[in-house]
Amino acid sequence: MKKSIGQDENIWTSEWDDLTPVSEIQMWDYFGLRQWISKFTPRYGKTVEAGCGLGRYVLYFSRMGIDIEGVDFSGPIVDIMNRWSQENSFDAKFIKGNVLNLDYPDNSVSGYISLGVVEHFIEGPQKALEEAYRILRPGGVAIITTPNKSFNILFRDAKSAVKSIIKKIILYKKQDTPFFQYWYRPAKLSRYVRDAGFDVRTGRGADLQFVFCEIGNYTDRLIKEGTFGYRFSNKYENSFPASFGAQSLTISVKRAPEMHCFICGGLKAGEESLKTYAVPVCSDCEKTELSQYYKITYPTKYGGPYKINPSILASESRICDFCGTGYNTDPIFEDYGFSRNVCNDCLKENKINIKLCCESIKPVWRKRNAGLF
Ligand SMILES: [Zn+2]
Ligand SMILES: [Zn+2]
Repeated sequence: MKKSIGQDENIWTSEWDDLTPVSEIQMWDYFGLRQWISKFTPRYGKTVEAGCGLGRYVLYFSRMGIDIEGVDFSGPIVDIMNRWSQENSFDAKFIKGNVLNLDYPDNSVSGYISLGVVEHFIEGPQKALEEAYRILRPGGVAIITTPNKSFNILFRDAKSAVKSIIKKIILYKKQDTPFFQYWYRPAKLSRYVRDAGFDVRTGRGADLQFVFCEIGNYTDRLIKEGTFGYRFSNKYENSFPASFGAQSLTISVKRAPEMHCFICGGLKAGEESLKTYAVPVCSDCEKTELSQYYKITYPTKYGGPYKINPSILASESRICDFCGTGYNTDPIFEDYGFSRNVCNDCLKENKINIKLCCESIKPVWRKRNAGLF
């Protein structure tokens, strides 16, 4: 059996060594998908990010008033994150835990976020997905991503297959590299998620931008405004080529005859609502403006093209588009990655933050680089 380092606590603790919560937040859409994650994270009940690392989404969503906890199996990271978030006045909690055996009762949470975690188990993702299903309440939403076999990875695989044939021919001994992660095509990830009991509402590839970032050796070389990579990834993120993007994504619901409504949180949404909506919506909420965003036919997308490596926005005074009061932009979150002005109070209103996440995300790519900030 291969040695596995996918679940080695020390490796994961050192993985984050040179990074800081601020640098992780400010790289923004270096890894795409914010349009999906921010739209489908439930606004009612508790959401758990399982395998949160430096927890940028935990911190981001806590500013939207979402009840969210980050779980990670690295004790030192959890301690650092709790201290850091307290010092910086975040209402966010980090817990040491194991995604295969979470410390939450059955049917107790409304959201489960897992970004690039379940592919690290050498025995496969099944146990982690079953655990997600167990803790989610009826109507709860699971947002699960893994690396995809992007066109770059497929090409690399083909190249290394040729190389290993050549090596075998000249009697090279094949090197036994330890297991770190799997790559799942979208259909394969969807199948695993469905097997755990979920109704997979969206199963697709995404994040073309990252493929060009990878090929460009993690620099902005191939994704700068005006390059082929920039035009291509902005144009095709919502169509077929995205199935060869860098990530596989599933948005899934724990289906039941009676489910919690995504819009109001009440336990009163029926299964028939899933014919029209991506998530459970009760009959009272069908008339609301917010429910329109969750129709299956409503496209989930960024509000505009990427901004590549813009300089960090220093805190400045602005007028909130929603309440008309003056406020200062956030020193860490800048403009919260939206193309509209929003004050801290309005950001906590579901009516406003859902609208922003569905219409006005301004995707920003910044180089992932410790010490830059
Ligand atoms: Zn409702
Ligand atoms: Zn406001």
